[in-house]
Amino acid sequence: NTPLDFSYQALPMRVVMGPRALDRLADEIDHAGLERVMVLCSPEQRELAETVAGLIGARAVDIHPHARMHVPVESAAEAQRRAKEVNADGCVAVGGGSAIGLGKIVALQYRLPVIAVPTTYAGSEMTPVWGLTENGVKRTGRDPRVLPVSVLYDPALTVTLPPSVSVTSGMNAIAHAVEALYAPDASPIIDLMAEEGVRALAAALPDIVADGADLDARARAQYGAWLCGACLGATTMSLHHKLCHALGGTLDLPHAPTHTVVLPHALAYNQDAAPKAVAALGRALGTSADPAACLWDLAGRLGAPRSLRELGMAERDIDRIVQVALANPYANPREVTAEGLGRLLRAAWSGQPPA
Ligand code: NAD
Repeated sequence: NTPLDFSYQALPMRVVMGPRALDRLADEIDHAGLERVMVLCSPEQRELAETVAGLIGARAVDIHPHARMHVPVESAAEAQRRAKEVNADGCVAVGGGSAIGLGKIVALQYRLPVIAVPTTYAGSEMTPVWGLTENGVKRTGRDPRVLPVSVLYDPALTVTLPPSVSVTSGMNAIAHAVEALYAPDASPIIDLMAEEGVRALAAALPDIVADGADLDARARAQYGAWLCGACLGATTMSLHHKLCHALGGTLDLPHAPTHTVVLPHALAYNQDAAPKAVAALGRALGTSADPAACLWDLAGRLGAPRSLRELGMAERDIDRIVQVALANPYANPREVTAEGLGRLLRAAWSGQPPA
């Protein structure tokens, strides 16, 4: 691809961002023409969901606080059943990727519009990708019906996200942008978003660790998360996301911390084969040479996990993950070999710097 030989699909959605963005929820519900809304969240965000329902009044017909990580089929079936029971004509998903993922699965079955109110930086709200987990195996698919019709980014809703979770969630977002920069379907438009998204998040995360109530930093992180999520929605992910998918699916490792540990290593693996991505990341991170080392340093400075061992992975599982990650081929800037993956995973497992 030459830079000006590409296709780009703009996604049909509205984004409302800013202080008190949540106050505009009723307007977004009007805009979507909804009358009977089901509010979805994870159990921990129930109180927030109640506040949200209060803003909508009688049009909130149910609060469903049962979202779980990776959307288990049982929890999907329960939410779908409930949506039918209360005759919902739309959903408001409040929370992280788990709540938004559940909203998407209801949307997939009943064609109900979803309005997303994200409270982490995972970025699911910007993508037409759904996920569903059965017997430990997560299936994902793309369907325009699951793309939220509106997204409200209100920084005040993220101040309760502990700094440690904010950092790993932010690194998860950065990973989307990193892989978009060397994606087989990259484009100059997405490159702009990716570079700016990494710049915004890498600058905001240290400020959030210094003061989790810093609304300006929270807003900049959400802006970065939006851009990085849009990158994920527009491109095909490679080695890093496949490895994290294998680690999460096979060993049930925690989603955002796993992304945080693996990202510097996956990027280091690809850097020599992706010079344009390295240049863009260098500009975004303010480093002239080695963005992978820079991300590893950033994670360390911010107190984030840097080894798979500390996330609970056993060393003997490295070979198993290599096999799972090699089972289905995918596009990657550099050839993915068993030997290369083994080396990468051993370094990530033990917490060595990326090489
Ligand atoms: P999550 O939604 O489970 O949230 C992580 C934790 O943070 C939960 O315990 C949650 O209760 C808590 N939390 C959320 N917001 C909070 C807040 N403001 N204050 C305090 N606590 C808060 O996890 P996540 O990392 O946001 O999302 C991960 C899930 O999303 C995974 O299943 C992943 O596969 C999926 N995902 C999907 C896409 C997609 O495009 N389909 C993109 C990214 C992530």
